[in-house]
Amino acid sequence: MPSESEESQGFYEMLWDCPHCDTKGLLGKSQRHCPECGAPQDADKRYFPTPEQQKLVIDTAPPSGGADDGVQAPVVGGHVYEGADRVCPACQAPNGAKSKNCTQCGSPLDGGAEVAAKQDVPVAAPRHKRRLWPWIVGVIVVAIFAIWFFFIRKHSADVTVTGHRWERVIAIERYDDLHKEAWRNEVPSVVSNAPICYPKKRSSRSVSDGEDCHTERKDKKDGTFEQVKKCTPKTHNEDVMDDWCTFTVRGWGKISEAKAAGTGMVPGPSWPSPPEPDTAPEVLGNKRRGPRTEKLTLDFGPDDACEVVDTVWRRFADGAKAHVEVRSRSGGVVCDSL
Ligand SMILES: [Zn+2]
Ligand SMILES: [Zn+2]
Repeated sequence: MPSESEESQGFYEMLWDCPHCDTKGLLGKSQRHCPECGAPQDADKRYFPTPEQQKLVIDTAPPSGGADDGVQAPVVGGHVYEGADRVCPACQAPNGAKSKNCTQCGSPLDGGAEVAAKQDVPVAAPRHKRRLWPWIVGVIVVAIFAIWFFFIRKHSADVTVTGHRWERVIAIERYDDLHKEAWRNEVPSVVSNAPICYPKKRSSRSVSDGEDCHTERKDKKDGTFEQVKKCTPKTHNEDVMDDWCTFTVRGWGKISEAKAAGTGMVPGPSWPSPPEPDTAPEVLGNKRRGPRTEKLTLDFGPDDACEVVDTVWRRFADGAKAHVEVRSRSGGVVCDSL
């Protein structure tokens, strides 16, 4: 998961409109009173500048915060954040966090509430995403419950062993020209004929695609807001190609198998005895016995069985009770519990 990086792009002033003389776009930090009629600022009426208002300011940023036309919010140079404004309990005028008495009416600010933060509304907020995720979580919870209910839920029970089955297999191999496929770097150095290769996707790698960025504006509640640029790295997957080769190599290849099978613990499992020898010289056409495999099965009635290791297979006689876990839904024996 790519991590998100954050970069502050500086502090800007919030705006407010004078409700008494209708002057618009006054500055939240530097204009605590209306320059036209002197009315105090109402912190509840602060708002974020539109992107156009803000862009104008960034492009033609004046050195300090003059407010002639009322539509500007210059970068607050050297802004020292002292904390959220507090509202005067007597006259509701917002005051800086360090003020002790109201600059408007002189009343002590003890007990004055913090200014409420304004929420910036992103232009293209994908609102449906928020509504969708509870449904996704719900579906996942139901699916997990269903899997548990039908496949995992189990309890202990005594089941009767109704039969023992065994099967033993010896592979029969012939020394031959074997047709094989592999990536070029895995082709053995000694082959019967030159490998034939074609390009094929072997893996994929993540390739950087720059960044996905957006800006967020956070009300600092002192008449300014901070603009933060948030970026997440963007990537796309690219195929990594390689050569896939077919080739012929001389070696022992399985051509058939000899099988012995039976039921019951007595006389018990025995190996088949095919005519091929255990070993043979590496000469084209020679045959030999290859790897051996054994399969032991315990039956629990006609429809249920478990493949087990030798010690477990011999632990229970036919007709014996085995204390095991069974699936609550199907009644099937959980073979791992044997
Ligand atoms: Zn005014
Ligand atoms: Zn006051």
